[in-house]
Amino acid sequence: MKTAIITGTTGQDGAYLSSFLLNKNYRVIGIVRNASKSNVKNLKYLGVSDRITLIEANLLDLSNIIRILDKNKPDEFYNLAAQSSVSLSFEQPIGTLEFNIISVANTLEAIKIVNPKIKYYQASSSEMFGNVRKENLPVNESFVFHPVSPYGISKAAAHWITVNYREAYGIFSVCGILFNHESVLRGDHFVTKKILNTAVKIRLGEVEKLRLGNLKINRDWGYAPKYVEAMWLMLQQELPKDYIVCSGEAHSLEEFVKKVFEKLDLELEKFVTVDKNLYRPVDLEIIYGDNSEARGKLGWNYDMSFDQLINKLIEDEIRYVKLEGK
Ligand code: NAP
Repeated sequence: MKTAIITGTTGQDGAYLSSFLLNKNYRVIGIVRNASKSNVKNLKYLGVSDRITLIEANLLDLSNIIRILDKNKPDEFYNLAAQSSVSLSFEQPIGTLEFNIISVANTLEAIKIVNPKIKYYQASSSEMFGNVRKENLPVNESFVFHPVSPYGISKAAAHWITVNYREAYGIFSVCGILFNHESVLRGDHFVTKKILNTAVKIRLGEVEKLRLGNLKINRDWGYAPKYVEAMWLMLQQELPKDYIVCSGEAHSLEEFVKKVFEKLDLELEKFVTVDKNLYRPVDLEIIYGDNSEARGKLGWNYDMSFDQLINKLIEDEIRYVKLEGK
């Protein structure tokens, strides 16, 4: 039986990855920042909270990580913990940079000291690319980074630290450059969850309005449970390599919200208002990726259309809201 340590287990991806690895018969250890206060709602929702071991750790403390690796002897380490919100990173730039960069350096240093054979996955992000010129899209693995938010900058630094430990010390450390991926377990402050949750509640007569920021942005959206499979596939390869994981299509936020309202039979104009206070200081206008390496070399197959994604997200959100109300 293989052992995997996952940081950020309580988040969207952490919960889906825990469930995925348990189904593959792994022993799963989840790192949380405060065991007594940890929100295990996502793990409970997927019915896996009793099947994983939660360990409290401070990823900013190298000695803490060394002790955990020494004691638990993992084969694989998935580093998903991060201050993951672009918007919040403008409010908390220093905290975002500190945690998202130092936690990665500490973990890789601990792996180098304790057991350089531990395979390491780093959660990199499409936000590292920043505003790519339209004519150069789609983005592939060899694109230069030009991040436009503290979050993107922190992820770019963490990405290069991961590459550096691979090149300098021969550690199997790889980055999955994931584009936006959504699910019912997305945090409440993320725009897709806000749209889905509010729209379903409007449908049920529980809420009256939805306030949104810039609807003109275009993103490459996918379905989170499928994306965690790619993380695992990356650590099963013979050679370590970074991959872009995306749907390969861009759609505007306007299109996203229109589709959700249309499918729920709600009049958009009646319920949605655009609030300029919700705009970011600087935003990516359009970005989408090229997933041919992930498909061809990892054998990752993603075949969900944008329409199917929205249908699935609505279906899941309705079930979620009904469960919440019980
Ligand atoms: P998420 O739902 O926001 O989860 C983030 C996780 O990180 C949570 O478990 C959270 O723990 C933990 N965390 C945050 N700050 C921490 C801190 N200071 N100390 C310890 N733990 C901390 O994010 P996600 O959507 O699952 O994303 C997983 C990873 O992929 C993140 O690194 C994110 O930046 C990256 N990523 C996500 C996307 C996407 O579209 N979802 C795209 C590209 C990259 P608490 O429960 O204690 O808050």
